[in-house]
Amino acid sequence: MELHQFTIHALQEKIRNGEVSALQIAESVFSRIDAVEGRIHSYIRLMKEEAMASAARADEGIQKGDIQPLTGIPIALKDIVCTRGIPTTCGSRMLHQFVPPYNATAVEKLAAAGAIFVGKANMDEFAMGSSTETSYFGPTRNPWDLERIPGGSSGGSATAVAADECIASIGSDTGGSIRQPAALCGVVGMKPTYGRVSRFGLIAFASSLDQIGPLTKDVEDCAIMMNVLAGYDPKESTSVKAEVPDYRQFVGRDIKGWKIGIPKEYFIDGIDPEVSAAVAKTIETVRQCGASIVEISLPHTKYCVAVYYIIAPAEASSNLARYDGVRYGFRAADARDLSEMYQKTRRQGFGAEVKRRIMIGTYALSAGYYDAYYGKASQVRALIRRDFDEAFARCDVVLTPTTPTPAFKIGEKTDDPLQMYLSDIFTISANLAGIPGISVPCGFSTSGLPIGVQFLAGHFEEGKLLQAASAYEKSAAVEKRRPAL
Ligand code: GLN
Repeated sequence: MELHQFTIHALQEKIRNGEVSALQIAESVFSRIDAVEGRIHSYIRLMKEEAMASAARADEGIQKGDIQPLTGIPIALKDIVCTRGIPTTCGSRMLHQFVPPYNATAVEKLAAAGAIFVGKANMDEFAMGSSTETSYFGPTRNPWDLERIPGGSSGGSATAVAADECIASIGSDTGGSIRQPAALCGVVGMKPTYGRVSRFGLIAFASSLDQIGPLTKDVEDCAIMMNVLAGYDPKESTSVKAEVPDYRQFVGRDIKGWKIGIPKEYFIDGIDPEVSAAVAKTIETVRQCGASIVEISLPHTKYCVAVYYIIAPAEASSNLARYDGVRYGFRAADARDLSEMYQKTRRQGFGAEVKRRIMIGTYALSAGYYDAYYGKASQVRALIRRDFDEAFARCDVVLTPTTPTPAFKIGEKTDDPLQMYLSDIFTISANLAGIPGISVPCGFSTSGLPIGVQFLAGHFEEGKLLQAASAYEKSAAVEKRRPAL
């Protein structure tokens, strides 16, 4: 095995034993990038110079015995988190030359934990999409089949991990953008509880839904990343002052006697039969791990996509009002007056999907429509949340497919926004309810595409998710494969 193929915890051990240096790991990752990045396009920007300098500094620290949880570990950052002095584009022409004057808290925390930043990962424009095709910088390709999408919007964060172009990464999840690409690329992805991870410096899409979380090669790495990322931040008013457990303690524990809830509303017609089969096998494995299966009902599931596509665009239209060509970001040339400058800037700066969301959102919030749309959607959202409260009174975690199908072809859904929106049919509910969710690999289709299973838990129960996911992972029911690149 080469160094770029290892997990965080395996590399940590090698660093502690003095077996490898941070520089060797960084060199291995960048040589892998040289070999495969041209075919995949995980990154909008690579940070090789900065990474090599931090690796050299990490090695000096290691010599003195200073080893932090991520010392010497190459990490990719979705290009939606602000990095001081380094362009942060959000996948958009609007911000293609934007250089933030500060770091996101997540970036600060990763840096303080010793992480080496490899680069800024590609994404759907402003995180709106499920395929990474709406990026201003061109699409990312799925390492398991280069003709297919990697999922989105954190597509580059997922492919970078799957193709060993980093050891772990962070993404953001508003309706599934960490879990869906994780599933389609065969890696682990967690959306933490709303308020668990600070969003200071995360470019806002839909503020009542957005969360930052990790994408990793296994469940233990997910726990290590969560240990670094989680916690209260005085700079972020929605971050919660709740104690952060050591997430690593949940890894490796069994789930004997646990109740696993299977919501009947998530096993519907239209799911790809290979996904159904893989998830059915997962349920069987979980049972063999000593858990019992309880059928539950989340009756308001059928409204999730509709509610999401009112709330998310409404909040987006408000958040994106700041891109006016005046304060920062792109400004169109040749405008005769202020109004024309606004119009041209927004027409040229945003892509089609972002404009669609802004129009939907502006309509839903306009005078006379608020009650019928945003107000109504918020009421239904409360019911969706209550469904989960009732479910978690009956089971420890809920198990569902992460996505209805494996990765689809590039271009297959770009002309059909509704079909694209349905990619997130199983992931959106967690964002609406504010609960945590994790996607873990659970098998492959006959054509060799990864399939993911999702576990959901109550608020601040990330530990339970890690425990369930790690028990399942340890059962070795899922074959370990690597994409043939
Ligand atoms: N695919 C969903 C959307 O387009 C979710 C995106 C996300 O989680 N950022 O809105």
